[in-house]
Amino acid sequence: MATIKNPLIELLDISYDTFNMMHRWLGRLSILQAVAHTLCWTIAKVQQKGWEGVNQSLHGQLIYSGLAATLGFVIIFFQAPKVVRSWAYEVFLYGHIFLVLVSFGFLWLHLKEFPQLGFLIATIAVWATMRAWRFATLAYRTWGGRGRCQATVEALPGDAMRVTLTTPRPWKYRSGQSMYLTIPSIGLFTAHPFSIAWSDADHGLSRSKTVKRSNTKVWSDDEKRPIVRGREPEEMEKATYSLVIKARTGMTGKLYDRVARNDGPDPGKMTFNACIEGPYGGDRSMASYGTVMLFASGVGITHQIPYIKQLLEGYNDGTVAARRVTLVWAVTSTDCLEWIRPWMHEILGIENRRDVLKIILYITRAGLTQPIKSPSETVKMVRGRPDVQSLMEAEAREKVGALGVSVCSGGGLADEVRRAARILLSRSVNVDLIEEGFGW
Ligand SMILES: Cc1cc2nc3c(=O)[nH]c(=O)nc-3n(C[C@H](O)[C@H](O)[C@H](O)COP(=O)(O)OP(=O)(O)OC[C@H]3O[C@@H](n4cnc5c(N)ncnc54)[C@H](O)[C@@H]3O)c2cc1C
Repeated sequence: MATIKNPLIELLDISYDTFNMMHRWLGRLSILQAVAHTLCWTIAKVQQKGWEGVNQSLHGQLIYSGLAATLGFVIIFFQAPKVVRSWAYEVFLYGHIFLVLVSFGFLWLHLKEFPQLGFLIATIAVWATMRAWRFATLAYRTWGGRGRCQATVEALPGDAMRVTLTTPRPWKYRSGQSMYLTIPSIGLFTAHPFSIAWSDADHGLSRSKTVKRSNTKVWSDDEKRPIVRGREPEEMEKATYSLVIKARTGMTGKLYDRVARNDGPDPGKMTFNACIEGPYGGDRSMASYGTVMLFASGVGITHQIPYIKQLLEGYNDGTVAARRVTLVWAVTSTDCLEWIRPWMHEILGIENRRDVLKIILYITRAGLTQPIKSPSETVKMVRGRPDVQSLMEAEAREKVGALGVSVCSGGGLADEVRRAARILLSRSVNVDLIEEGFGW
């Protein structure tokens, strides 16, 4: 029921993360109710007829099916915690679906004579429809008249990959969108969610194809490079969607090993048939904030990069309120800058960028002998970790309009941003916090 296509997400106007949390807590409550229901029946039965009475009742379909359904729910409770999901997500997911189907089978038998069966049938119908709808979305984006979806994967320093996707049915891209990616030759039954870090399918500003890319290691301040506006419909057909994927231990690790070990004519680069499903998300706009702070650690930058582009374009077009945009990105080493180098060059080339955008890069594991040099006044590189509270307090003092803060990071940085936002709120600063955690 926690599928991303659940219509309740839109009806309640909540994020998928919040919906997922509701799913987990409603699930726990249902299990508690099932256990309480079973215990109450057992206590009453033992009091009336002793354990012999319980034993006899178990021969009837109503009671054995109810007990089996409760047992199934209890197993789900122990199979679903975060520790299992992190250990092996697919084991959790397919195990969860299997256990729910078996438990619902027994529940059906248990409710056969009761009007509540209608609720169960409605639940199963909603689930099956959403699954079918997800598969239809995948088929629509993956196969079409102009061929099938392809993923070109390039191994990058810092155990990451840049994935460029082409689809027979492109869509108009919005900041904050994500999608599911399956690469059948790496893992047929594994669909993984990733943020779309960049796309040329947004009808916005787009860099002229005649412009040469710089090969400098760190980003250069190249505001003078030409920019073209809008995209022709035939260009839209060739639109690409790019991801940056950090190699972990499952499918992403396997993909990275395969690509990094490729020593064919194009070393460190391979093209695969892929299946994509989406796009999802992209409903949180930062356009109404006069001051925007975007925090990211590591690969969390994929969520923030499109917002920077959108806000700068909007500033030039006069369609957003943003007057001050600050990106704070914490990475372990300067290698990580390579992940987004081509896109950052485009951003640094957008007109009037210096008036609005400030970038602060924190290199958390820089060696003492490694030189850390800021490319310019508006693009700074600093050794160590960000002092989030000081940064946010400074921005709150100088802010124009409301302050919108977005963080995409695991653990530490997200906690610090949340704490600093609370402190600002307690001082009556007009601040909104948006969090993306890259996990559920
Ligand atoms: C909305 C969203 C956007 C994301 N964007 C990016 C991105 O731009 N770049 C990036 O590198 N990562 C991103 N992630 C995280 C990415 O989905 C996981 O790192 C990836 O699925 C790990 O795959 P694996 O098999 O190598 O995982 P494992 O090494 O097996 O597990 C690593 C972690 O990923 C989680 N995970 C594994 N499979 C899934 C799955 N199918 N769905 C959800 N979580 C899963 C596990 O619970 C575990 O915590 C995003 C996640 C979400 C939810």
